[in-house]
Amino acid sequence: MPCETLIRGAARLLTMDDADLRLDGADVRIKDGVIAEVGIGLEPGPGADVLNAEGCLVTPGLVNTHHHLYQTLTRAVPGAQDALLFGWLRTLYPIWARFGPEEMYVSAQVGLAELALSGCTLSSDHLYLYPNGSRLDDTIAAASDIGLRFHPTRGAMSIGESLGGLPPDALVENEAAIIEDSIRVIDAHHDPRPGSMVRVGVAPCSPFSVSRDLMRDAAILARDKGVMLHTHLAENDEDIAYSLEKFGCRPGQYAEDLGWTGDDVWHAHCVKLDAQEIDLFVRSRTGVAHCPCSNCRLGSGVAPLVEMQNAGVKVGLGVDGSASNDIGSLVAEARQAMLLQRVTRGADAMSAHAALRLATRGGAEVLGRSDCGQLAPGFRADIAVWDMRSVAAAGSWDMGALLLAGPQQVRDLFVEGRRVVADGHVTTVDMPKLLERQRTLAHRLQD
Ligand SMILES: [Zn+2]
Repeated sequence: MPCETLIRGAARLLTMDDADLRLDGADVRIKDGVIAEVGIGLEPGPGADVLNAEGCLVTPGLVNTHHHLYQTLTRAVPGAQDALLFGWLRTLYPIWARFGPEEMYVSAQVGLAELALSGCTLSSDHLYLYPNGSRLDDTIAAASDIGLRFHPTRGAMSIGESLGGLPPDALVENEAAIIEDSIRVIDAHHDPRPGSMVRVGVAPCSPFSVSRDLMRDAAILARDKGVMLHTHLAENDEDIAYSLEKFGCRPGQYAEDLGWTGDDVWHAHCVKLDAQEIDLFVRSRTGVAHCPCSNCRLGSGVAPLVEMQNAGVKVGLGVDGSASNDIGSLVAEARQAMLLQRVTRGADAMSAHAALRLATRGGAEVLGRSDCGQLAPGFRADIAVWDMRSVAAAGSWDMGALLLAGPQQVRDLFVEGRRVVADGHVTTVDMPKLLERQRTLAHRLQD
């Protein structure tokens, strides 16, 4: 791989930097995985690889702040398609209980390939069940092989059916073992350095699937190791009712009491945060993974995205698990975020540019990546190139309005300066072979 790549002549380039520069006819120079220069009329250095970006929109890579990659093998499962949350889980748990390391690896790789094609360069993942010898390491290997920047979180469930919980006992773990394995994966894989390709987080599935003690211990462990914390919070009305009944307080209070607020914490959904909880998130710099497609799919409601943003809450986007979306497309998620706010607040509630900023810089800030999410010198070279000469953008008068009229897939995608997608194809894995392997596993699960 040459150490320099020049992306040349982009019709429009969105930096998402502090000045929010939007350049026409712009170039980006990449050196050793980092953006060296952004400007107009840049000349390639000796031996540089030059990529013609005429007619293209160039943006920072999109950032996915919430996913359950393993669910990529269980999309559109009959019986779960139109079920509410609890019925949906009851249908899927027995299928997931048959997963093993190969299912975890293949589902993660298929899900990450789908994300990459939709412009995503950095994804988090929330894996909270480990049947039949599965490990977080299986998904880390999948991400490493495909070349995406990855923030896997060591999720967990410990309250099974015999203790009054929802999941079958076979899918829950002993709490001491959860902490022990969390320490193991952090020590083995977490890299805090700038440019890091893997950062591990700690992530009990939800406040309802583990004990109060484990929530507290997880927070202590995360602070001790300097890693981030993640879980599902305030997803729907039942969630709030359950919290009030079992814990005697709202989810925000429960989180704060157990150390689950701060710059190193982000919560998925937060559809039902009230004004006090929004204020708590602002004061504590706690982040939110907004998942509009999942919220629509499961009928959870419309998150107060504009209120959170106006108040100053850090917000990014998440596609959520493929079993509750069922598409893992980040560009589609960004469009949905924009549309959903307009449903309740009017056409001027959120612009296409603001939604794209949420999907790029917003997500990077939620995941604590001050080195990603912008096209500016010194930032990591995570870059999406969108062909605006495609039929989806034909007739558009605004090259930057990707979310109003633009392609659903990237033409090219760079992660740490490496071209992971070229001319619309993933370069790092043999996709036909991967999909064949996925079909074999799916048939086995359906038997
Ligand atoms: Zn989720």
